[in-house]
Amino acid sequence: MMKMIAATNNGHKLKEIRAILKYKGIEVISLAEAGLDIEIEENGDSFKENALIKAREVFRITGEAAIADDSGLEVDALKGQPGVKSARYSGHRGMDKDKKNNEKLKEALKNVPTDMRGARFCSAIAAVFPGGKEITAEGFVYGKIGYEEKGEQGFGYDPLFIVDGYGRTMAELGSEEKNNISHRANALKEFAEKLNL
Ligand code: IMP
Repeated sequence: MMKMIAATNNGHKLKEIRAILKYKGIEVISLAEAGLDIEIEENGDSFKENALIKAREVFRITGEAAIADDSGLEVDALKGQPGVKSARYSGHRGMDKDKKNNEKLKEALKNVPTDMRGARFCSAIAAVFPGGKEITAEGFVYGKIGYEEKGEQGFGYDPLFIVDGYGRTMAELGSEEKNNISHRANALKEFAEKLNL
């Protein structure tokens, strides 16, 4: 089984990447399992650039195959914001970061009517392999931003993101369902195709 180190400290993301790539015969090791206690600065202007920064850094340190996801939410009425700044949208860094981000998003959209609340989640996956080969892939899932948080599953903006065609928020979907349709799942599918698995 191929092993890759995931360049993330986000337990939710790790779980999703692990679950999705298991079906492709790839075992995903966390940074902690690889013995790395690092925080990589993401100063790129795009999801793809940030994913590459993270995967390259882990490969540089370990010499082992590395995979990274950079992701976020793009809201039509906010001209694509919070975008690459999704994690730090509210400026809070602590435990209640997701809650504060959702509150800020609700406030920003409070006067925006239902038919103008379109948004998409984006994920860029970057992988670097011994020898230097790099693969990148992107995935999306489309929806609308709700007026209230709903659902307890998932993380981040999931409770406000009503998935097109489902009439439920991402946080109301089970993990298996989310892992079938999510931006990350779509990016990882494209990644696996490019890897020829
Ligand atoms: P990153 O760790 O810099 O890629 O930041 C990703 C941020 O985007 C997270 O902190 C969330 O706020 C948001 N995000 C990314 N993927 C998801 C998802 O699957 N559900 C909800 N929010 C997400």
